Amino acid sequence: MHEKSLSHGLWADTAPPAPKLTPIEGEHSTDVAVIGGGYTGLSAALHLAKAGRDTILLEAEDIGYGGAGRNVGLVNAGLWLMPEELLRLAGPDYGEKLLAVLGDSPDLVYQLISEYEIECEALRNGTLHCADSKSGLKALRQREAQWQHRGAPVSLLDRDETAARTGSRCFLGALMDKRAGTIQPLSYAYGLARAALKHGARLFRNSPVTGHEKGRDGYRLITPQGTVKAKAVIIAVHAYPGFAFQSIKKSMIWMNFFQFATPPLDGEASESVLPGHQGSWDTNLILSSYRRDAAGRLIVGSIGTVNGFAYGLHEAWVKRTIAKTFPQVGEVPLEYGWYGTFAMNGNHIPRFHVLDENMVMVTSYNGRGIGPGTVFGKLLAEYIMGGSAENIPLPILKPETIKTRLFWELFYETGARMYHFIQRRF
Ligand SMILES: Cc1cc2nc3c(=O)[nH]c(=O)nc-3n(C[C@H](O)[C@H](O)[C@H](O)COP(=O)(O)OP(=O)(O)OC[C@H]3O[C@@H](n4cnc5c(N)ncnc54)[C@H](O)[C@@H]3O)c2cc1C
Repeated sequence: MHEKSLSHGLWADTAPPAPKLTPIEGEHSTDVAVIGGGYTGLSAALHLAKAGRDTILLEAEDIGYGGAGRNVGLVNAGLWLMPEELLRLAGPDYGEKLLAVLGDSPDLVYQLISEYEIECEALRNGTLHCADSKSGLKALRQREAQWQHRGAPVSLLDRDETAARTGSRCFLGALMDKRAGTIQPLSYAYGLARAALKHGARLFRNSPVTGHEKGRDGYRLITPQGTVKAKAVIIAVHAYPGFAFQSIKKSMIWMNFFQFATPPLDGEASESVLPGHQGSWDTNLILSSYRRDAAGRLIVGSIGTVNGFAYGLHEAWVKRTIAKTFPQVGEVPLEYGWYGTFAMNGNHIPRFHVLDENMVMVTSYNGRGIGPGTVFGKLLAEYIMGGSAENIPLPILKPETIKTRLFWELFYETGARMYHFIQRRF
């Protein structure tokens, strides 16, 4: 299997051509250097360049190489945590600010898509969080009450309405969130890159930052073929710090998520499976995601990698899942299978690090990075341009090693394999 098909799968085939970029060569200087070409880095570069700051973005591989080019494409509002849990963990001050900023984060995503005419299969028709158990339904009721209390347009659908919206009788209900929607994730990353280029940012691919030094006037970033002197640096490497920043790894728990896509559905299946093309996922701990793409494919995802023998194991689970959840689809081949990694932490709240006076990062979006990455990229750009840290709805924390990270990584990876091996066999 070709590496690219395992990493970016369907999205690599249906995205427009990538922006034409070259590796950085020689010595450069700039106001702000951004490290990483995912949503956080691209949004930061776009907003810096738009505000007139000279900006260089260095991407180790290609634009969207990390989670940005591999994810499910659910543009969610808020975090995984329920509002009250977030307030309890983050405290009322940061909690309220985070709820407001991330609850509105889809607005910024869709505003940029519209402003820069980004072609990314964008739909803002709500998402469906589906209850696959009584306890899941109870949790969705709480979620509904807590968000409705804050005036958010969310509502719990009953079993029949859920069946009509999903095309499946397997769910007890679903929470419809009208703030949310779906995109083609890699196309969105390419669109952000084009917008940043349009405003004069200089973007480079195949330019991994392998080290950095502090000088009198700022920082010097080192790549294999060139260097960049910058007054300020935004680090946006998230769960793909393949070169420098290895120490940051230890402050995150890495979680893998795979997806498989069918060919475009036709006939009755096409009309009944997620007929409104809402992105959806279930309430299970080893959660499953379901969505359609613009061509009408059904894309099913869950936790785990699809490396080596795990490919066949998870592929077989996806086939059984389709047969049980959407029997009207019948037997279909799976044309694409791919996976990616995202960063989690202990309390599911992103972290803001000021690593040095003018070197900052926000990380650990816990699997929800389209809205948060876009928003935090903008907020980091504003902070670096002289804004107050108070505008970032997170406390400044030191990166701390999560001692149990290897345990949790193994727990989720092997747990998902065992679960998928057993589930829906009988
Ligand atoms: C399979 C999967 C499904 C997901 N589903 C969803 C979803 O449906 N909705 C949602 O909101 N979120 C989802 N996420 C999470 C989301 O994709 C991430 O949170 C988001 O991509 C984070 O954006 P980012 O820009 O911070 O990091 P990334 O997109 O991971 O980008 C980091 C970039 O930094 C580059 N880099 C690393 N080290 C260096 C270096 N030394 N020098 C230069 N460049 C470097 C990498 O190559 C990479 O391109 C999912 C993630 C995965 C993996």
